[in-house]
Amino acid sequence: MKKISILGSTGSIGTQALEVCSTHSFDVVGLLAYSNEKLLEEQVRKFRPKIACIADPARYQSFRTRVSDLPVKVVTGLDGLCETATIREADTVLNAVMGMIGLRPTLAAIEAGKEIALANKETLVTGGELVMKKAKEKGVRILPVDSEHSAIFQCIEGYRHCPLNKILLTASGGPFFGKKREDLEKVTVESALKHPNWSMGAKITIDSATLMNKGLEIIEAVHLFKLPPEKIEVVVHRESVIHSAVEFEDFSVIAQMGVPDMKIPIQYALTYPKRIACPVKQLNLFEYGTLSFYPYDADTFPTIGVAQKAIAAGKLYPTLLNSANERLVSLFLEGKIRFLDILDTVERIFSLNGDRDVTLENILDGEEEARQWVDSLFC
Ligand code: NDP
Ligand code: MG
Repeated sequence: MKKISILGSTGSIGTQALEVCSTHSFDVVGLLAYSNEKLLEEQVRKFRPKIACIADPARYQSFRTRVSDLPVKVVTGLDGLCETATIREADTVLNAVMGMIGLRPTLAAIEAGKEIALANKETLVTGGELVMKKAKEKGVRILPVDSEHSAIFQCIEGYRHCPLNKILLTASGGPFFGKKREDLEKVTVESALKHPNWSMGAKITIDSATLMNKGLEIIEAVHLFKLPPEKIEVVVHRESVIHSAVEFEDFSVIAQMGVPDMKIPIQYALTYPKRIACPVKQLNLFEYGTLSFYPYDADTFPTIGVAQKAIAAGKLYPTLLNSANERLVSLFLEGKIRFLDILDTVERIFSLNGDRDVTLENILDGEEEARQWVDSLFC
């Protein structure tokens, strides 16, 4: 039985992961939230972890008081994040925090030899080279949780030594599929948060609406599967039943399918290489009748092209893109900028200096510079 520490346990992925853990009585030894004290307390009472991190230092005292009757170590801040990621009792760390804050705990967990179930795609976008290098050095497995990457991982299982022609990365198209730029002028936060197929945290839902999510996923796939970006083709597939596919040299295409429910890829990363019953609906293809496929609209949504350009340029460009996007999404959610400002601004990240080596120090500097650059434009 795996012993799991969950970073981001109060989020969309985190709560679904706990549902999986509860179904199978997995041992949850670490839990972490940023500010949702109430839910974290409930989780601590139910799962009895050894450590619980409330990452926002301002909430440390009050959270400690809430769980003072329990034998749990309470930690906070970035040190707390890293401690929860490296706790001795855990053999697997599920990283499901939101955003680039996930990089350092991932590196710390790898250093400590933990298996990584990785939902936090920003970790690979901003620091993929460092993460994959360290994982190789330490002989640590990175098991993808993102549904497309889990699908690709499953499709190539058993064919590790067969070269791939390409990856077919599916995309739902988000809530604004079929819209043109002029239709996006008055997009509200509420409408951008309405995803057609998936219920997810706010940041990734906005990324899905701008299609930046698919751009970030291309970068994620480049690192995980060691393919150049031009071999990753985005296919808009509205039903989200095919979670992605791969084409081999013989033109045979293998796809992975299932209902759009994150519990399947979350559980697979936690039970790998085993497959056990999962608390989700079965796929009934007759309910769908037809599955549809389209190219994406590169004129309306330049985000995927920007991500392709950033990963092709390499160095710190993906870091700059990721950080600028994260700040833009947060400003949009706060009602401070328009939806189109996200699309228009990410295209301009190449005006920043990304021609620097990928070291942790440079990544952290680059993240801060991109954040400040966005603030200088809008705040
Ligand atoms: P949510 O916003 O629902 O949850 C984020 C979690 O991270 C919460 O537990 C939150 O705590 C915590 N958190 C937020 N900010 C910080 C911080 N600064 N320090 C520490 N913890 C923090 O996000 P999702 O679950 O949707 O997504 C998590 C990750 O998984 C993202 O990287 C996303 O791209 C990826 N992913 C998500 C999918 C999904 O279906 N949701 C699908 C594929 C990938 P609190 O609740 O206290 O704020
Ligand atoms: Mg995905």
